[in-house]
Amino acid sequence: MQIMKILVLNCGSSSLKYQLIDMANETALAKGLVERIGIDGSRLEHKRDGGEKTQIVQDIPNHEVAVGLVMEALQHADYGVIKDVSEIKAAGHRVVHGGEHFTKSVIVTDVVKATISECAALAPLHNPANLIGIEACEKLMPGVPQVAVFDTAFHQTMPEKAYLYAIPYGLYEKYKVRKYGFHGTSHKYVAARTAEMLGKPIEQLKIVTCHLGNGASVCAIDGGVSVDTSMGLTPLEGLVMGTRSGDMDPAAVAFIMEKEGLTTKQMENMLNKESGVLALSGVSSDFRDIEDACAQGNERAQMALDVYHYRVARYVGSYAAAMNGLDAVVFTAGVGENGPETREAICSYLGYLGIKVDNEKNAVRGKERDFSAEGSTAHAMVIPTNEELVIARDTLGLCK
Ligand code: AMP
Repeated sequence: MQIMKILVLNCGSSSLKYQLIDMANETALAKGLVERIGIDGSRLEHKRDGGEKTQIVQDIPNHEVAVGLVMEALQHADYGVIKDVSEIKAAGHRVVHGGEHFTKSVIVTDVVKATISECAALAPLHNPANLIGIEACEKLMPGVPQVAVFDTAFHQTMPEKAYLYAIPYGLYEKYKVRKYGFHGTSHKYVAARTAEMLGKPIEQLKIVTCHLGNGASVCAIDGGVSVDTSMGLTPLEGLVMGTRSGDMDPAAVAFIMEKEGLTTKQMENMLNKESGVLALSGVSSDFRDIEDACAQGNERAQMALDVYHYRVARYVGSYAAAMNGLDAVVFTAGVGENGPETREAICSYLGYLGIKVDNEKNAVRGKERDFSAEGSTAHAMVIPTNEELVIARDTLGLCK
């Protein structure tokens, strides 16, 4: 029988998320999460499809031990789903930054690893962890092909006019300072599903996808390719996020640093971890908490949501302009999939683009739905993302 099982791994600096996907029917056989790698209280949480969650609490000093535990869990007599590692055809790894080097997914080689390492200058928190995950798999699954799938690759189709910053050109030439964009696998998946749901070739569609999770970005997809996106050199640019500021006057950064006597690290930390709706609301970075606070009359919480919705709407409008048209605006990720109020508030700005919301259809969480009202000339949709499936599909495609 043909081996069709793909292991998908997403390694962070102290965490590792995984799924084993059977590509015969594109379903997850098991999924799990290793947390606090190299920190006190490390643990693995594993769940086979249709089974109970299993938690293993033990010392997990590094990613190699973590990957080893994942392998054991996948083969476990009670809660495992395979008998032997040889049942895994290949492993697909999420890699955050591929710079200008990678326009699509690739099989990992020594040269690929060296290039991912080079790109770490642009993603110092993520790429080294991604690489550690790849190397741990190489050791523990010798002979099993490893594939790297980049968050940035889908956006490499952006034209120069969209990705260049208007700063001295030498900075682009020397350091490749430019817009790259992230969440590429999510935007790609959602756009493809949009075309399938609308029953139209993606080549004929102008789509704006809104990935609204804890991190958030909007993407303009014209004819199936990314032509612009809101995140930049790093994931800090663009929308207001859970704890990230998104766009602001760059001069304000220097101003604040001077007034508050902050180092670049402290400033970076403030903009990435202490800003966004967390800072505006003073309540939380989680939209459920903010919505609860709004319901109790908290005005700052409402203000935070107003700023958030307004920014998303502005991006959708600017991308409709960039593409000279709009067939569908699509919401995905934690907030986009689960927040009918968020979708409605954003769409309330988009009437001039032909979008009208059917509130009954919009009353949905975590399910695919076209919630545009009768008479809309553009579609408003919700589509749960599936980044792991895109990684698994790319991996299988390269290992056939
Ligand atoms: P993600 O990064 O895609 O996992 O999204 C995480 C975010 O989704 C959380 O911070 C929550 O704010 C948001 N979220 C998850 N579930 C809900 C819900 N039921 N209603 C509103 N927001 C939600």
